[in-house]
Amino acid sequence: DEQTELKSINTTCPYCGVGCGITASIDQAKHQIVIQGDESHPSNFGRLCSKGSTLADTIELKSRLLEPSVYGHDCSWSEALDMVADSFMSIIKKHGPDAVAIYGSGQLLTEDYYVANKLMKGFIGSGNMDTNSRLCMSSAVAGHKRAFGSDTVPGCYEDFEQAEMIVLVGSNAAWCHPVSFQRIRAAKESNPDLKIVVIDPRLTSSCDIADLHLPIAIGNDTILFNGLLNYLNQHNALDQNYIQQHTEGWSDALKSAQDSSSSTERLAEQCKLDKQDVELFFKWFAGHKKVMTLFSQGVNQSSSGTDKVNSIINCHLAMGSIGKPGMGPFSLTGQPNAMGGREVGGLAHQLAAHMDFSNPDDIDRVARFWNTDHIAQKPGYFAVDLFDAIYDGKVKAVWIMGTNPVVSMPNADKVKQALQRCDFVVVSDCIAATDTTALAHVKLPAVGWSEKDGTVTNSERRISRQRALFKPAGSAKPDWWIVTQVARRMGYEEAFHYSSNVEIFREHAALSGFENNPQQHSRDFDISGFAELNQDEYDQLQPTQWPVNKAHPQGLQRIFADYKFSSPSGKAQFISIKPRSAGNLPNKDYPLILNTGRLRDQWHTMTRTALAAKLNQHKPEPFVEIHPVDASHYKMVKDTLAVIESPWGKMIARVQITDTQQQGTLFVPMHWTAQYSSLGRMGALVNPVVDPISSQPESKHTPVRIKAY
Ligand code: SF4
Repeated sequence: DEQTELKSINTTCPYCGVGCGITASIDQAKHQIVIQGDESHPSNFGRLCSKGSTLADTIELKSRLLEPSVYGHDCSWSEALDMVADSFMSIIKKHGPDAVAIYGSGQLLTEDYYVANKLMKGFIGSGNMDTNSRLCMSSAVAGHKRAFGSDTVPGCYEDFEQAEMIVLVGSNAAWCHPVSFQRIRAAKESNPDLKIVVIDPRLTSSCDIADLHLPIAIGNDTILFNGLLNYLNQHNALDQNYIQQHTEGWSDALKSAQDSSSSTERLAEQCKLDKQDVELFFKWFAGHKKVMTLFSQGVNQSSSGTDKVNSIINCHLAMGSIGKPGMGPFSLTGQPNAMGGREVGGLAHQLAAHMDFSNPDDIDRVARFWNTDHIAQKPGYFAVDLFDAIYDGKVKAVWIMGTNPVVSMPNADKVKQALQRCDFVVVSDCIAATDTTALAHVKLPAVGWSEKDGTVTNSERRISRQRALFKPAGSAKPDWWIVTQVARRMGYEEAFHYSSNVEIFREHAALSGFENNPQQHSRDFDISGFAELNQDEYDQLQPTQWPVNKAHPQGLQRIFADYKFSSPSGKAQFISIKPRSAGNLPNKDYPLILNTGRLRDQWHTMTRTALAAKLNQHKPEPFVEIHPVDASHYKMVKDTLAVIESPWGKMIARVQITDTQQQGTLFVPMHWTAQYSSLGRMGALVNPVVDPISSQPESKHTPVRIKAY
């Protein structure tokens, strides 16, 4: 029999935060796989979207970074690792620990993230480890922390099927979280009474199943949700008992809401919405207990991102609709492991295991656990500030892991210049030629998705295993191994003794439960139930929602059903929201507002999805969407090229005229890079304004102008 017997392995999709389970049938000899959805995975039950189902087309080796190199010459691993360790040590010796930094990624596995964060914050002694999750999730993190005292997503995907109403805010889930959207669509089909409301400036594919679309003017979500809070109060839709017993700050939050939304008429005018539509939305929200509000980058990527998140949570707290089946605010995570990165402390203000620098006890506790006297005492630079500090020469060495900031950061031309000026740039990646690897002094080949082995956490707090399907290609190594080797060369042998990923996972799990008392809800993220896993149990680990501890050995679907929050008083916090305008408003030189986002069939900077021919057919090149009235005003002709300029940079894109776009605004997808198009990068246009609380950049609102090319 000439037929090869295919081995099947269950793993997880490496793209979005839905975190779908995949069953891969592997032909080792031909280095090929057949992909199917994992029917037993509770996050997708066998469903996959276009990106996940074409993963087999992306595992070729031609585009891979396969050998380490130093200053353009291929070299041995020891030479490359020595170079990284020596250069970091000599810069630290001369300029102190804050002169070096790590910039990580939501593509890293939890184990990779854990050791990178431990090296920088625990042993180098600087807070300078931030991640590209700053660009996608940090406003949700800050909003959760303000409301609940912890970065907790209370609900789960099953709630989609139990809800009476689902509100999608700033989320084109049909394209960006397709399998969750399919699940919502199926829920609507089996229960036509399920109300779907989409709040988005654009008419997107997500509106296909909407009972109501509110095309809100970009950036006005806090006005709308303050208005909703006011309405709930006026129409006796509050859960007074819940407010009194389980929350604090109600009267101040209500006062702010009243101050900012005098009447529905005024509110509709400010948000550029139809008054009847606003009233209908309010009426529906007030009339259903089981309401879910799903939010994503349209909320987070804003200079008021954190306030937007809290204005949404305020409404759920007011109705007591949180922590129970079919209800609650629900943050859709951007990346496959943005949640895992938050769990290990990958953002520069965090320390580890949902502990952060704001609490001296946390610093002391983590230092004792890691047995270090070098622990950082304060947050490091956040993404935008980090690249500014590199530009200014304050940070002299940076190690970028699994991300492409020369494309994805706001003000991306300055980021490029920053790396060109930087004394020492290390990039570990699985792809050889990216806009960022082009500027690296040392390139370290990391394993790609089909070779990676470890854990990721998705939007519903579910920890799943990514399992290796193949041996590492070329000389590629796991990220955790690379970091561990550098750490040992820097003299931290004992603390980085790991010889396998399970040892790291166990340590991470043990730290999460270290001096934690779940009865007091002192720390929500507690997976101490995994602290004793052996290799076999780790290999067999089934998708599980944290916490996993003595109280919840099998995990927990919903948090806050017991009304215990992680704030000092144990109560949820209403936050007073005063709406603010965007950081930079349109003006006579730059009269249009640029909005940015993802496409259905591409992922981030296309380094992997562009390898799948099928995915490139959807939208083959960079384009700009413009409303017909603006197109005529600016003399734009369909399918011709246009130049878009902002005060920060410019790019060229193909004109698409569509009334799905609001007048006065443009939309450009985020994906294209110098590698796939000579027309420019969206990131070069985007203003580097950030939210004052979360430091998340305002990627949805940049003043621009457009002209024919
Ligand atoms: Fe992968 Fe997200 Fe698509 Fe699921 S929805 S298959 S996780 S890209």
